[in-house]
Amino acid sequence: METIVIVGASLAGVRAAETLRTNGFAGALTIIGAETHMPYDRPPLSKNFLAGDWEADRIALRKADDLSALNINWMLGTSATSLHTDSSVVTLADGSQVPYDGLIIATGGLVRRLPNQPDIAGVHVLRTLDDATALRDELAEGVRVVVIGAGFIGLEVAATATKRGARVTVLEGLEAPLIRALGAETGTAIGAVHARNGVDIRCGVQVASINGDQCVSGVTLTNGDTIEADVVVVGIGVAPATQWCSDSGLTISDGIVCDANLNAGPANVFVAGDVLRWPNGMFKDIEPTMRVEHWTNAAEQGAMAAKNLLATLRNEPMEPYSAVPFFWSDQFDARIQFLGRAFESSTVDVVAGDVAAGRWCAMFSTNDRLTGVLGVSMPKLVMPSRAMLSTYTSRYDALQHFAAVVAAQNK
Ligand SMILES: Cc1cc2nc3c(=O)[nH]c(=O)nc-3n(C[C@H](O)[C@H](O)[C@H](O)COP(=O)(O)OP(=O)(O)OC[C@H]3O[C@@H](n4cnc5c(N)ncnc54)[C@H](O)[C@@H]3O)c2cc1C
Repeated sequence: METIVIVGASLAGVRAAETLRTNGFAGALTIIGAETHMPYDRPPLSKNFLAGDWEADRIALRKADDLSALNINWMLGTSATSLHTDSSVVTLADGSQVPYDGLIIATGGLVRRLPNQPDIAGVHVLRTLDDATALRDELAEGVRVVVIGAGFIGLEVAATATKRGARVTVLEGLEAPLIRALGAETGTAIGAVHARNGVDIRCGVQVASINGDQCVSGVTLTNGDTIEADVVVVGIGVAPATQWCSDSGLTISDGIVCDANLNAGPANVFVAGDVLRWPNGMFKDIEPTMRVEHWTNAAEQGAMAAKNLLATLRNEPMEPYSAVPFFWSDQFDARIQFLGRAFESSTVDVVAGDVAAGRWCAMFSTNDRLTGVLGVSMPKLVMPSRAMLSTYTSRYDALQHFAAVVAAQNK
């Protein structure tokens, strides 16, 4: 009987396990996970769960019965610490060894911390259910919250905390929020949504220190300003969780580098989710390899990694994973959706709606090719763009397309 081991007990790992079983894998299946919880969904951690609207049982990734039907040997609360691809063995923190015939790595991302981040009460990060529970307990009417980092997680925390009555300041080192994901123009417009809702957004500022003895008291900037705080949330992004397999011989470069089939080099090792870097056939001409930190891709990649591992074990052909990346984010009343990729060099055209009114659709073109479509509370225009993004569409053709769609809507 063959044994497949999945490292990482979250979205990509669970989706891989389900796909193995639905595709007829009847061998032993082990999932190793560093957290003690059964798999749960992360997006609500900064939204409904943090708001206090949902409890932990509502964010379980699957019902207990559905998970038991998969017949998985769960090894939770235990970390993989090294990987030996020659002997096909994963070593755990307690020194025990887990052999495999096939391996799927789905270890996701670990939050980045500031170099001088103090470990004192009131200072938080947000990646896990435990992080979210600790932060949620401290958000209340009138609490002064400083969020460091205006990326998606930071802004979602700012919106949720504001809704709970906290007084929120967001500090961002770059000149606008969300610059890396969506560029300065769009980031500034989304920052304006926050400002209209009472968030004090300060961009182009650098944090010198987080202050406090046993409890946090504030944040001092390099310009000398101090912002008093009862709660500080450090939201400066995640790094792929590759440390544990850094000596394995796998190629690691901001993620585990795989081929188009999500294979990591050794024939029986595949990777999925936030930890994966791979050549996405749809965007390879602009971005030779990419790593994405989005829910939909993690789920799809988990399934594809499982299918390709099974194909290898069965000597069948594999299928490359190429896709239009997609993510969403909820901030105040705005539902932000983005399909594709945005680059620093992208040209941004607003094709529908009104930025000042907080409801608009914009397209991103790179090297004259449509590479991304953003909708802020405009779902009807975003999702139908997938076909245009998955084939080569020039900026001109895309502009014509949106002009026609908007004209038809206005008829
Ligand atoms: C607060 C928050 C809000 C989000 N909101 C959105 C959203 O609105 N839209 C969207 O598209 N995406 C969102 N995301 C991103 C989305 O949740 C991730 O893309 C997705 O969870 C990635 O799944 P994954 O399985 O690859 O990794 P993860 O979910 O990170 O899971 C990896 C698991 O592996 C475990 N692990 C790591 N190292 C080891 C080890 N050495 N041994 C054993 N286990 C290990 C980790 O503990 C973790 O449980 C959000 C993420 C967060 C944190």
